[in-house]
Amino acid sequence: MLKFDITSEYKNGFARTGIIHTPHGDIRTPAFVGAATRATVKALTMQEMRDLGSQAILANTYHLLLAPGTDLIKEAGGLAEFSSWHGPTFTDSGGFQIFSLPDVKITMNGAKFKSHINGDKFEMTPESSMQAQWAIGADIHMAFDHLAKSENHKDMEIAMRRTHDWLDRCVAEHHRLAKIHGCDMPFEGPPERGSARMSGARPWRRAERTQPEKGILSHEQYLYAVVQGGTFNDLRAESAKYCASKDVDGFGIGGVFTADGMDEMLKTVNAILPKEKPRHLLGMGQEPIDLFVGAEFGCDTFDCVGPTRMARNGSLYTNDGRINIKNAKFIHDFSPVMPECDCECCKNYTKAYLHHLFKTDEITAKVLASIHNERFVVHIVDEIRESLQNDSFENYKETFLNRYYNN
Ligand SMILES: [Zn+2]
Repeated sequence: MLKFDITSEYKNGFARTGIIHTPHGDIRTPAFVGAATRATVKALTMQEMRDLGSQAILANTYHLLLAPGTDLIKEAGGLAEFSSWHGPTFTDSGGFQIFSLPDVKITMNGAKFKSHINGDKFEMTPESSMQAQWAIGADIHMAFDHLAKSENHKDMEIAMRRTHDWLDRCVAEHHRLAKIHGCDMPFEGPPERGSARMSGARPWRRAERTQPEKGILSHEQYLYAVVQGGTFNDLRAESAKYCASKDVDGFGIGGVFTADGMDEMLKTVNAILPKEKPRHLLGMGQEPIDLFVGAEFGCDTFDCVGPTRMARNGSLYTNDGRINIKNAKFIHDFSPVMPECDCECCKNYTKAYLHHLFKTDEITAKVLASIHNERFVVHIVDEIRESLQNDSFENYKETFLNRYYNN
């Protein structure tokens, strides 16, 4: 079972701080998890991610299945080794991307789809998603769920029931794979950085065991069930109850698209989910308010591609709201994007310089902007964690949101 220590509980009965102990290190929660869709955070190196204070990354099973293929990642020693991240890792199940494809066919067995790269046909089932995630070797996996987006109660109920059926199959397959790979044995700790590459040895092996099934990693891996149900609180409650009854290590909360109504939904769900297991809010965190509401109502980790995607378009966070650095008003602005920010971009460069890099389409523009935006969201969640610990959350939330949204 994934070890999660709750270090403080907030007076509203939902928010908490804690530490998730993964085989690749600890995550102090609440925490913002960097979106490393294809085993890279776009425009950033893993060293830059470490330098800006990121604690964990989340990669996407669908994208890694298509390229470079899960066998190659296995061969490299898993996601953390392959990407040189060497820290805690998550994978999502691939469901979100697959159900966004134009010609996906959904059956009780799974989802049939064509690769967006070369048109190759694939079928993803709960079992194959688990096998792919075990091969990728992230510390924390998400169960394969049917992500639907509809305002129709019946449609959402059908998708939720399918998600529950698939969850049972994910749990069975996860435990089968865990048993095969000896994950009932004590974890010996990660190898020294670079040691695997230096010696040519495969990392994460256990000395006392016979060789694990070819290519599949033998370090402990953990499964989160995913709560669905859309905007319907009765379905969310039913889904939370179902997920809570399963032998899983934590929970993802999926299918949330806006902060509207998110507080009520999270209150419903997190009042049902067992307190002692961690919860991840999937795909939310582009808007700072998502992070405040998520943490306030009991979510421990968040991931979102929004901050780096916006950065690549020149949209940068500041404490006074977002700015578009491509705007002509920054041509002669020799101040940093945000004077209070401690990131590499703000410490060394001016808005005028960044504006010039964007206007001339220099690669460095995207790098610096991504460093800043990712640092901004990581920092907010760090501040939320601290404010929960020293009982100043309400004050921090009000001050931050008033300034951010009223300028
Ligand atoms: Zn900055």
